[in-house]
Order: sequence, then C-alpha cells, then structure tokens
Amino acid sequence: MPLGECELSVTLVVQKYGGTSVADLDRIRSVASRVKRQVALGDQVAVVVSAMAGSTNQLVGWVHGLDAAGYDTAEYDQVLASGEQVTVGLLAIALQTIGVPARSFLGWQAGFRTDRSHGSARILEIDPAPVRECLAQGKVAVIAGFQGISPERRLTTLGRGGSDTSAVALAAALGAQRCDIFTDVDGVYTSDPRIVAKARKLDRITYEEMLEMASLGAKVLQTRSVAMAMQHQVRVQVLSSFADLPGTLVVDEEEIVESQIVSGIAYSRDEARVTVLGVSDRPGVAAAIFGPLSDTGINVDMIVQSVSRDGVYANLTFTVSRADLPRALAVLERARAEIGYEAVGADADVCKISVVGVGMRSHTGIAHKMFSTLAAKGINIHAIATSEIKISVLIGEEYTELALRALHTACGLDRD
Ligand code: ADP
Ligand code: ASP
Ligand code: MG
Repeated sequence: MPLGECELSVTLVVQKYGGTSVADLDRIRSVASRVKRQVALGDQVAVVVSAMAGSTNQLVGWVHGLDAAGYDTAEYDQVLASGEQVTVGLLAIALQTIGVPARSFLGWQAGFRTDRSHGSARILEIDPAPVRECLAQGKVAVIAGFQGISPERRLTTLGRGGSDTSAVALAAALGAQRCDIFTDVDGVYTSDPRIVAKARKLDRITYEEMLEMASLGAKVLQTRSVAMAMQHQVRVQVLSSFADLPGTLVVDEEEIVESQIVSGIAYSRDEARVTVLGVSDRPGVAAAIFGPLSDTGINVDMIVQSVSRDGVYANLTFTVSRADLPRALAVLERARAEIGYEAVGADADVCKISVVGVGMRSHTGIAHKMFSTLAAKGINIHAIATSEIKISVLIGEEYTELALRALHTACGLDRD
C-alpha cells in the first residue's frame, strides 16, 4: 500500500424496526434519532420497517369484511403491502428533518423478487443495486419490509411477521456486517416475558434453538428469518428500540460458552385438535386420512394413534393450524366413505407448549420432568411430539399460563 493511503472499510448495518417501534410519530422520531446515531459512527445504514402496530391487522380485517374466505389473494397482498408504504415514507421524512439524508423504497423498488405464493411468498432473490447506490450516495435507505414482487409483477407479502425476513435477506444480499432487529422487548427470553415474569434474557441463542423456538410460537423472530440467517450466516441481534441495553445474539453452536440443557419454552395457540374416532385398524388408513388433507394444502403437525382393546378399531388424533380447522373437517367429511370412521371430534381451545434446547441431545430426563410437572398441576396431555432438541405437548388452552410458568421453574430457567 503506498504511503499515506489507508484502507477504508465502511461498516454496513441493517436495522429493522417492528410495528410497536413505529407505532406513532413520536416513536418514528425516536427511531430516526437511533438511526442518526448509527450514521454518526460512520456506518452505512439500511433500515427495514414494519407497518404501524395494529395497521396490518386492520387491513386484514377490511379484506375479511368484504370476503372472509374466497378473496383474491393478489388483491389481499395489494391491500396489506400498504401498511409499510406509510412508515417508510414517514421515517425517511423524519430522518431528513434531523439532517440525515434518506430515501424510502417499497419492496419492489429495493429489488425484492419473490415467488407467486400470495400471503406467504418466499424471497427468490434480491437485486441489491438500488439500495447500494443509495448508500453510496451517503443516504440512509429505508426499505418497506414484508413485501416483494412476483414474476407476474404483482405485489406479494411474506407472511405475518415477515419484515424480519426482509431484513435478514437484505443483510445477506448486501453482505452487511450485522442485522439488528429492534423490537418491544430487549432480547430473546427463555419464554415470552409477557406471560412468564421470571423469564430470563439470553445473551446468546443458537440458530437451531431460535429456529425451533420461532417455529413453535415465539414470534419475536419470524421462522423464515432465522432459517435464512442460519443459511447465510447473518449475524442477527435482537434488541430493544426503547432502551439502550445489550440484546440477544443468534449464533452458531460453537459460540455458546455455557450451554443449558433447556434454553427456552415456547407456546402456540395457533393449533386445533382433530380426533377421528373408530377407524378400522388396517394398513392404509393413515394414508386415507392424511392424503386428502395434504392434497388440500393442510399441514398436519402432531399425530397420535391409539388402538382399541379389541385391536379392530383405532382413534387418530392430530393437530392442524386453527385457521385450517374448518377446511380440515370438510375434507374429512368428504372422504368419510373412503376412510370409514364413526365420528370426528374437534377442539380449537388447545395450546402447544414446547421445551427447546440443544442440550437435550445429550441429556435424558426432560420428558419425564415435563410430564410430571404437568401432572402435578392436574394438566392433561392430549398429544406429544418430539425431535432431537424439543418436546412438545398439547394441552387445554386454559392451562397455558399455568403450564408455562410451572415448566419454566421445573427446568431451572427462572430468574433469581
Ligand atoms: P415486532 O412488532 O417488533 O416485530 P413482535 O410482536 O413480532 O414484534 O415480537 C415481539 C414479541 O414477541 C414480544 O413482545 C413478546 O411478547 C413475544 N415473544 C414471544 N416469545 C418470546 C421470547 N421467547 N422472547 C422474547 N419475546 C418473545
Ligand atoms: N406488518 C406485518 C405484520 O404485521 C409484517 C411485520 O410486522 O413484520 O405481520
Ligand atoms: Mg414481528
């Protein structure tokens, strides 16, 4: 390197602000000053924002108000994408008013190309050129999360909570040093801190555990965002947009110094239980039930089969997402002759509680601890599912808080 020339390396940071962080003008101003502080460090900053808290729900409500079931999903996305259009523009203006050059981008303007699965589209690729150019001009790029454009050039949305995925995908496409997810809690906790008061903030969590926690209901990060971060090795940090506190870093397993057997407990009220009673206990019966469900695009999660004492008839219990319950029942009714069953029962008032931890690979006894803790509280288990690093149980919804707190204590996770 010639004398007098020094290597200039600019840090590129992606920040994401969720709905509560941009819920009104005061909060948007406070986000703007946080962005300004990052810019003052000499960093290039791309900011992904969500719609104002509650606004996406309102938009969904309007669509459902006109047509609850058979609506055109491309038009649904056209409506839903509008929430983020408001906040990107407002944040860009808020930044400009405090002397920070900025411009806003809708998903398509920022190069987010997705597939055509309206309502839960997947990002296929991002052309980072427009955002890069904006950053190179010394401006903050403010990008609408949750949206992209399909091959047919229709607007798409990425599924609820999808701004997290927009942020991680953008960080990967730009090769950003960090992706900071600012939200209304100051990190990832051992359980939802709004329900479990004794939940502890984790300094670090592995991608794998975060992936399980998210897919099992911990909505602090959208599941796809974690999968994407893991795949592209994006350094994700979850932290508060309201306080200057250290957050939680999502890392590889090797980066965890002291590992616990159980890292967290998640819950999901998004499940519904279906029981098919009196099916004959013969080969092919499970295929006869689950085939038509899968053909209709209905995902089945937990499955339990119990055989009657005479060995002739069985009962089959499984869960589907609550939103899919009416369709699942209709499918079973249509396939009744083919399956051959006595009756179908359903219960939407259930909750799935899951204990997660990479330490469960090498330690036994968590299942027993979980079942005995629930038994001691008189909580009945309707179904069980396990994987290498998690155990899930299905219980009555009314026991959610009780079960979460009892399991949190039993697994030794309570804050002192
Ligand atoms: P944003 O609008 O910023 O995207 P979300 O509402 O999507 O925020 O996610 C943050 C919420 O996730 C928190 O308010 C909290 O109630 C919930 N949550 C659930 N499980 C956890 C957990 N294990 N740790 C932290 N937050 C959790
Ligand atoms: N606004 C969208 C939602 O409410 C996306 C997001 O907040 O991440 O789901
Ligand atoms: Mg969210």
